[in-house]
Amino acid sequence: EEAANRPATPSMGQVLKTPFIRPGGRRKPFDVVVAGAGFAGAVLAERLAAGSGCRVLVVDRRPHVGGNAYDAVDAAGILVHRYGPHIFHTNSRDVVDYLSRFTRWRPYEHRVLARVGAMTVPMPINRTTLNAIFGLNLTSESEAAAFLAARAEPVAVIRTAEDAVISQVGRELYAMFFRGYTRKQWGLDPSELDKAVTQRVPTRTSTDDRYFTDSFQAMPADGYTRMFEAMLDHPRITVETGVEFGDVMRERIARHTVFTGPIDEYFEHRYGPLPYRSLEFRHETHPVRRFQPAAVINYPDESVPHTRITEYKHLTGQVGPKTSITYEIPSDVGDPYYPIPRPENQALYKRYEALALARPDVSFVGRLATYRYYNMDQVVGQALATWRKLVERGVVEAAD
Ligand code: FAD
Ligand code: UDP
Repeated sequence: EEAANRPATPSMGQVLKTPFIRPGGRRKPFDVVVAGAGFAGAVLAERLAAGSGCRVLVVDRRPHVGGNAYDAVDAAGILVHRYGPHIFHTNSRDVVDYLSRFTRWRPYEHRVLARVGAMTVPMPINRTTLNAIFGLNLTSESEAAAFLAARAEPVAVIRTAEDAVISQVGRELYAMFFRGYTRKQWGLDPSELDKAVTQRVPTRTSTDDRYFTDSFQAMPADGYTRMFEAMLDHPRITVETGVEFGDVMRERIARHTVFTGPIDEYFEHRYGPLPYRSLEFRHETHPVRRFQPAAVINYPDESVPHTRITEYKHLTGQVGPKTSITYEIPSDVGDPYYPIPRPENQALYKRYEALALARPDVSFVGRLATYRYYNMDQVVGQALATWRKLVERGVVEAAD
């Protein structure tokens, strides 16, 4: 009965494994090499192969496709996200239409709770949160707005992630919900980070407790990995997992490269390393049907090392006697997951970007290669735009 509603384990056997070096061959067997099989790489591979008739080699150093969105069924039969919770949300019709060619969707609206002291309350802060924390009975948006206005600290120019919060809700709520979480997540104080970081989580005077308000919110019905397999399933696409781009690059087998890894790595850290934040994911399975009351619970308290715990059954609707969860523990070491938004890092990125602009034979796409704190839909949009530009420049043809 357990997990009977799930598809079988995504199998990498469906991804072609063919040697990319032709024995004794001098002709380039591929038109384009794509480094990275995440959203950026998979969208470009699909467009270049299906939309431009190119022969495409996709390599990824990891043993699977999907990049950070990779999901797979664990030992308990539960579909889990290897690299932390990925919830799809967007306002872009184009992006939804494009991805819908490769997956069906399961409607899902994400809700998050925050553990503050002994209380578990809605996050982002909304009227329910305020009533619970302060023992109030605010009944309208205007009452909640007046309550927040009385606590907010005016900031002349909002620059940092601290300014963005205290100018909205004041220092007490900032300390409860944002300071500790942000210090753990980034290893920096909010006063050292761009305002855009905390502006991702706006405060509400309504009782809307959804994490996102985008017009489209859903999960790929059979998981992300299945969707990636469908995107990459094309006769002109060859996928090689467990392969370093550097080893392929030396072969000079294609006239164009799409690079979706860290941009500083591509240029051999010429100007020094660009900082990326990492995470340790602690995956656990518990012999209970339900571990926690929401898909994600945030832990802003600095005395625990994790920032949040995710329980996947909420995301997928899976049922069964066991449940799987993931703790996220931020770290300086490990795979790069987040660009760190602050002025000095942006300045260093700009120096690498200048090197990239001087390389018309390479397209840099995605979260790591353009050093942008992008969600999945933004990466898809960026990749589609990159393909259209390659067509406009005449680098590739538009065959459909
Ligand atoms: P990646 O997914 O990082 O793919 C890059 C790939 O390139 C990797 O697989 C890597 O192995 C490979 N690679 C790099 N260098 C090389 C090399 N030299 N040789 C071979 N291979 C290489 N977005 C949302 O929209 N909603 C969410 O809920 C959400 N939650 C997230 C939670 C976490 C913990 C994280 C880290 C991110 C989350 N995101 C979310 C963001 C989302 O993961 C990214 O926007 C998206 O996956 C980026 O795709 P990408 O292709 O740019 O990069
Ligand atoms: N944040 C916070 N407390 C929370 C949730 C978020 O301080 O309970 C801040 C924190 O700096 C975090 C940022 O807002 O890194 C963006 O949050 P989001 O949930 O979008 O992070 P992601 O899912 O991208 O890791």
